[in-house]
Amino acid sequence: MPDLEDLYREIILDHYRNPRNRGELDTPPAVRAEGFNPLCGDEVIVYVRLANGVIDDIKVSGQGCSISQASASMMSATVIGRTTEELHRLNHAFKSMMSIEPAPDDPPPANGNGADIKLGDLEALKGVVKFPVRIKCATLSWHTLTQAIEEAQTSA
Ligand code: ZN
Repeated sequence: MPDLEDLYREIILDHYRNPRNRGELDTPPAVRAEGFNPLCGDEVIVYVRLANGVIDDIKVSGQGCSISQASASMMSATVIGRTTEELHRLNHAFKSMMSIEPAPDDPPPANGNGADIKLGDLEALKGVVKFPVRIKCATLSWHTLTQAIEEAQTSA
């Protein structure tokens, strides 16, 4: 039986080789945000379309290491169809798994710190915490999505 680390590696490689929600959306109605991690050369471009506070559609493109691209794929599959409130909780749960303190201007969600929310495949990235230089690879897509959502909310 494979151990947990093998299983996590399999999940990461699966998302890297078969990225979910890969592509582009028309802007508008979607918004586009671009993130770059100079430490590793990772690039993530997120297209997101909000409808009534729900992430109606999301597409991701870009290039970079397996962690950054697998993380973007997992993120897209996890957040599609979610409300922005759920997204806020997921974002916090993911960052706390990555041992990142929330920014002072980004208080934890009112109803719980996100510990009750299921991260699914994203848990496969837990092992990245052991390699601090790769944490930025794993969180790049989340920063980029946050930017896109902010832009979508101001332009709505
Ligand atoms: Zn990277």
